[in-house]
Amino acid sequence: MAEDDRMHEGGRPAGETSPEAGAERKAPPARSHGRLSIRPTAVPRPLMEDRRLENAWTAQVITLLPEAFPGPLGLSLTGRALKERIWQLETIDLRRFGIGRHRNVDDTPAGGGPGMVLRPDVLAAAIDEARRSVRAPREEWPLILLSPRGRPFDQAMARRFAAGRGITLVCGRFEGVDQRVIDHYGLEEVSIGDFILTGGEIAAMALIDATVRLIPRVLGNQASTEEESFSHGLLEHPQYTRPTDWEGRRIPEVLLSGHHANIARWRSEQSVKLTRERRPDLWRAWRARRDGDPEGDQEL
Ligand code: SAH
Repeated sequence: MAEDDRMHEGGRPAGETSPEAGAERKAPPARSHGRLSIRPTAVPRPLMEDRRLENAWTAQVITLLPEAFPGPLGLSLTGRALKERIWQLETIDLRRFGIGRHRNVDDTPAGGGPGMVLRPDVLAAAIDEARRSVRAPREEWPLILLSPRGRPFDQAMARRFAAGRGITLVCGRFEGVDQRVIDHYGLEEVSIGDFILTGGEIAAMALIDATVRLIPRVLGNQASTEEESFSHGLLEHPQYTRPTDWEGRRIPEVLLSGHHANIARWRSEQSVKLTRERRPDLWRAWRARRDGDPEGDQEL
């Protein structure tokens, strides 16, 4: 068992100590009560663990670090929507399913090598418990393992998840999880990028954040998910706000002109320029979709 998990044993939901903490309130610095360091969370714990609302989009997270949630998801727009029950979050503590007195969840890799691997039987017990409460087919409630070997997460995937009724996420730790549990459940592996995190929790939060903001009513009037980067396959144009003059740099005149057609044209040109320069892969895909021409980068 790795040290980082032992550290959290005996930790207590911080919400219990500050049940009045609202999603918008600034979190006070962590206070130290004797040896127990109490971390304030924005959303009181009970909010996360109440009985499920049947119709709210739900993220279930199987993790060795349940106290990491909701973390930033409990703040600002996603936090407000969580409080308003537009979506809900359930954490399933993998340690509960551990074996023996020490609740072991991992063991050394077969064949040797460094680190530890999460046991299939322990993970299976947690997955079974999570799925027992799911009343939706897999297409509407995917079962996902965060994994650097997975399909790269993107905006289209976030849209697919947001269109469903929920999601079950398995967070790996240490060297990862036993392959048999992936095969047995047909876990869909999803990566948030070509780098290695110490565990799936941060990846799960990124995936949940990107998905939840696409659920109707979460962004409220600030909604602009139609215009932003990736929604049309291109990167977004640059943004400016007051002051008009700053450090000798002026906002581009066209944006101050009030001429809507010119503004739209400028923005779209900027989008194309940025995408061509920075993301030739996206640019090629966009041209191929538009022209049905996979060699669309000829003009580059
Ligand atoms: N030994 C593994 C990495 C394990 S990292 C390998 O080389 O492939 C430990 C856990 O962190 C993984 O099981 C996964 O759940 C999570 N993780 C690490 N990097 C990730 C990424 N880029 N995307 C999604 N999850 C990741």
